[in-house]
Amino acid sequence: MTKLVTIATFDFPPEAEAMRLLLEAEGFEVFITDDHLVGTNWFLANAVGGAKIQVIDSKADLARKFVEQTRNNTREAALDKPDVTFDCEECGESLTFPSTRRGYVETCRHCQKFVDVPE
Ligand SMILES: [Zn+2]
Repeated sequence: MTKLVTIATFDFPPEAEAMRLLLEAEGFEVFITDDHLVGTNWFLANAVGGAKIQVIDSKADLARKFVEQTRNNTREAALDKPDVTFDCEECGESLTFPSTRRGYVETCRHCQKFVDVPE
């Protein structure tokens, strides 16, 4: 007999939905409860504990670890790698690119010239 265990709770259904997709990509079977209630009654989110992600009990420990790691990674990635902002050498306009573009050549959105994104 398998039963469902809540492994994570989210205040907003879209966050729960994003995590569900990540978990499913890892092969977990995922259920979300209360999301419709929360979605139509935002102020009730706290009352019902938000949207809950559930998995079958035998997978709960693994899924919990995965959620924890994903949350930590997301937090670290956001802290470690701020966006890169610099001035275009051609037109002097300020440009911002995500940190993943460091060291790449991009196109200035103001003058369309190629620019080197600083490391
Ligand atoms: Zn430019």
